[in-house]
Amino acid sequence: MAEHESLEFGKADFVLLDNVSLEEFMANLKLRFEKGRIYTYIGEVVVSVNPYRAMNIYGRDTIEQYKGRELYEQPPHLFAIADAAYKAMKRRNKDTCIVISGESGAGKTEASKYIMQYIAAITNPSQRAEVERVKNMLLKSNCVLEAFGNAKTNRNDNSSRFGKYMDINFDFKGDPIGGHINNYLLEKDPVGKVKGVFKCIFQLVKGAPDAQLRSLHIQRDPTAYTYIKVGGQIKSSINDSADFKAVTDAMKVIGFTTEEIQTVYKILATILHLGNLKFGSDGDVTLIENSKLVSILGDLLSTKDENVEKALLYRTVATGRDVIDKQHTHQEASYGRDALAKAIYERLFCWIVGRINDIIEVKNYDVRVHGKNTVIGVLDIYGFEIFQNNSFEQFCINYCNEKLQQLFIQLVLKQEQEEYQREGIPWKHIDYFNNQIIVDLVEQQHKGIFAVLDEACMNVGKVTDEMLLQALNGKLAKHAHYTSRKLSPTDKNLEFDRDFLHSLYSVVGFIDKNKDTLFQDFKRLLYNSSNPVLKAMWPEGKLSITEVTKRPLTAATLFKNSMISLVENLASKEPYYVRCIKPNEVKSPLLFEHERCKHQVEYLGLLENVRVRRAGFANRQIYPRFLQRYKMISEFTWPNHDLPSDKEAVKRLLQGCGFEHDVAYGKTKVFIRTPRTIFSLEEQRAEMV
Ligand code: ADP
Ligand code: MG
Repeated sequence: MAEHESLEFGKADFVLLDNVSLEEFMANLKLRFEKGRIYTYIGEVVVSVNPYRAMNIYGRDTIEQYKGRELYEQPPHLFAIADAAYKAMKRRNKDTCIVISGESGAGKTEASKYIMQYIAAITNPSQRAEVERVKNMLLKSNCVLEAFGNAKTNRNDNSSRFGKYMDINFDFKGDPIGGHINNYLLEKDPVGKVKGVFKCIFQLVKGAPDAQLRSLHIQRDPTAYTYIKVGGQIKSSINDSADFKAVTDAMKVIGFTTEEIQTVYKILATILHLGNLKFGSDGDVTLIENSKLVSILGDLLSTKDENVEKALLYRTVATGRDVIDKQHTHQEASYGRDALAKAIYERLFCWIVGRINDIIEVKNYDVRVHGKNTVIGVLDIYGFEIFQNNSFEQFCINYCNEKLQQLFIQLVLKQEQEEYQREGIPWKHIDYFNNQIIVDLVEQQHKGIFAVLDEACMNVGKVTDEMLLQALNGKLAKHAHYTSRKLSPTDKNLEFDRDFLHSLYSVVGFIDKNKDTLFQDFKRLLYNSSNPVLKAMWPEGKLSITEVTKRPLTAATLFKNSMISLVENLASKEPYYVRCIKPNEVKSPLLFEHERCKHQVEYLGLLENVRVRRAGFANRQIYPRFLQRYKMISEFTWPNHDLPSDKEAVKRLLQGCGFEHDVAYGKTKVFIRTPRTIFSLEEQRAEMV
């Protein structure tokens, strides 16, 4: 019996459950996890449970086992999905995408790496040097992005703090010729309190050569830096210097110039020094206590010390026709310092992504040379985040997931429905929660939460989070999925309601996080640097105070726009899904925490997914292809049939096998309801060939 049918390992496809209930779903998930079967299908969706141990299932031999095979022929695996996406792209000339979702630590980034590895392994059989160069480039960019975009946290040793969408472009032979990366909402705080420290910062302090550290005025001791201490991550790994070298080398290979690489590290050093900067007061005057740091910053930023000092202590404001320098209070100065550290990190990261894209993007020239250009996109993006305290970041992330869920519903259900209609097959309507209403609540023009937030941020004068909440209440009180409540006078909550799932967000910090909070003085400081790389990162610093009129777009608007274009992009492709589940909080390979897992199964909508799949057909194939694969099973079709059409021949074949009840015949395709039928056909075929 094929492994995927053996009951010892549970059901390889949740569609095959006897009853679609949460209990049965969980029991199957747990059984398979305990038996080391970390992947299970829901039709063509892969559900993955993080094994938290090295699995011997990603090697060359496994790759060979999946290469070019159909989904149901082998046990569930990421490689099968990768192969399906690749086949659709190559054979049917379709752009495809693989959407990987799940919470932090569920295994998304690992999954995306295995998928990339698989695609790299099965392409370029003729070893063309140019293609190998491209593959190497894609690999190296991943190494750089991980160093600058991932942090070590207590939840995840390699936690991605940004969402990543990567397109790989293929030529007519199906070989990679380039790529493009989009990043979404990097958590700006390079040293957030619970978020750990970005890997590159730690690699620099622990891994950079002595001379380089000296030139950056950085000590080898991570505990010397406030931001690292606040980040709470001072345990080093044995690989720090090897990692540092690997990342630096990767930047070189990708094509960063020496000056660019030096600037990257100067910026990281600047952030560390900024964190140690202390302000004091002398009467009404705010002072920098450790003024030695000012000259270090001047050196790193290639600007005069007095410019650094002035930007840290004063703000230039226009009052009528006059321009005056206004002293920061102690509090404003500290706030400005932290905002600067965050902003330069975020800008650095976006700049790195941009530089990588410049180099890996397919140029017009390549398209002319290589002809057809199709794409596989891989999306590795944070899933729903529900914490004890949910703030602006969780709000954005969960909005993003609502949108992706919406897309999933649209694509899976609507497309299915449309196909049945086209093929003339009766469709049994199934009810589902259409969460468009939730998406609208957030993103609708003029009325949505983001619009109200932006409006509040636009007001001149001091706007508080409290006032934002009042504005939201005023506009949205009647919305079926909006409530706000106040638990205590200091507690500001806005509640936001998703079908079965309640999430509560605190509006505290929304205003601040939404606005571009970096004082213009800092932008000018960085723009006026004599380091051309740094200068180029801050073009808006060119404007003088009286010229600054246009407000930069808010974080919410930027995020909303990027989500809308992401969803448009995904909707234009044929999607494949990987849903990742984190079995426990302690990174244990043995522990399956029932409640945690159940919660994830619920908010990923997996049960709903199974229902949709069961209501429809698990498999469909055009008649000639079906015959080509299974004609040896029946005496009526082997070696050739004399029936009036392929459709008739397929009917005859399936009648002969006793599968009549499980199939429907469309205009051009045969639809098979359960995968069991496919397994059985596959087995009969295997016996014959
Ligand atoms: P996410 O991107 O969802 O936050 P990661 O992919 O970074 O999570 O996975 C977190 C950790 O879990 C990894 O560093 C690794 O230790 C472990 N892990 C995840 N997937 C696998 C896998 N397929 N095999 C072995 N370990 C894994
Ligand atoms: Mg990740």
